[in-house]
Amino acid sequence: MRRVVDFINEYDPGPFPEDFDREVIQLASNENPYPPAENVIAAIKNRIFKINRYPSPYYRELKKAISEYTGFGVENIAVSSGASDIIRLVTDILLDPLDRVLVPMPSYTMYVMYSMLREASLETRVYEGYRIDGCYERGKLAFLCSPNNPTGNVVERKVIEEFLQNFEYVVVDEAYCEFSGTSCADLLEHYDNLIVLRSFSKFFGLAGMRVGYAIADEKVVRAIEKIRNPFSLSMLGQIAAVEALKSVEYYRRVAEIILSERERMRRELEKRFYVYESSANFLLVKHDVPDIAERLMEEGVLVRDVTGLEGLDGPHFRVTVGRKEENDRFLEVVSGL
Ligand SMILES: *Cc1c(COP(=O)(O)O)cnc(C)c1O
Repeated sequence: MRRVVDFINEYDPGPFPEDFDREVIQLASNENPYPPAENVIAAIKNRIFKINRYPSPYYRELKKAISEYTGFGVENIAVSSGASDIIRLVTDILLDPLDRVLVPMPSYTMYVMYSMLREASLETRVYEGYRIDGCYERGKLAFLCSPNNPTGNVVERKVIEEFLQNFEYVVVDEAYCEFSGTSCADLLEHYDNLIVLRSFSKFFGLAGMRVGYAIADEKVVRAIEKIRNPFSLSMLGQIAAVEALKSVEYYRRVAEIILSERERMRRELEKRFYVYESSANFLLVKHDVPDIAERLMEEGVLVRDVTGLEGLDGPHFRVTVGRKEENDRFLEVVSGL
């Protein structure tokens, strides 16, 4: 066994409803709480009888649909089974042992895990107020997440440009960008070292289907596509994503509800806790209630305890914006603790 495997901290996936023998409210994984658009369900039902066949490994239909959605050419789009798989593919194509990698903290821990697996020289940095205000290092690769998980804030465009000038490659993880309405993908016009990651798991509500993509320079896309498992994306995942892109209006309406619920939750939570500014479908909450996540769990509400995440100072939990009645129940329970 490679020694590095011992050094890697296991990813903490948080609590899952399957682990409980009663109904629980899942607000721990930043999923979209609303059902998929009807055409998504219909298309999956239609194809279900073809699951004996492999998907085409080129995923042309999906790339064409993503190309139309994003405005980038199919040669600038790589797909795989979730943005998290693309994080791994990016580290695989870019990193040699001891290459310098910067991961601002607190952020998504997969950047650390996959960089370590490549035996990179990993540097983490905590910024004042958890806001990345500039680039102070140089190196091979930097991971920026905008909006950031778990803090919810957006990295300013001029700061991203500073990173692009100081690092050989910069990943900007935009898993939540449809909620913030921000993207830096257009910077690709000036910077061929930018790799933008996107996901169908959040805004498009397809977390169970495992679909993600990267927008990047052709050379990066070709390298990712060359080494990825040719069939990493399931046939049903491809179909679901293509259909979801035909119903963007539906998902925009859903997102509007989610954003207005988020502000309602913020107002309620602020009566009692410190709540961070969020441009995504979740809120980061600083609190002083012992075992708050466990006590919420006892009442059937799952949130993510992010206390102890590198860089985060003091007890925190992250709560996903759910459906209105779920949020009501969460607020009711949390206000009684
Ligand atoms: C949820 C999340 C992802 C994972 O996306 P998948 O497409 O489900 O693999 C990637 N990055 C961040 C920051 C996330 O929060």
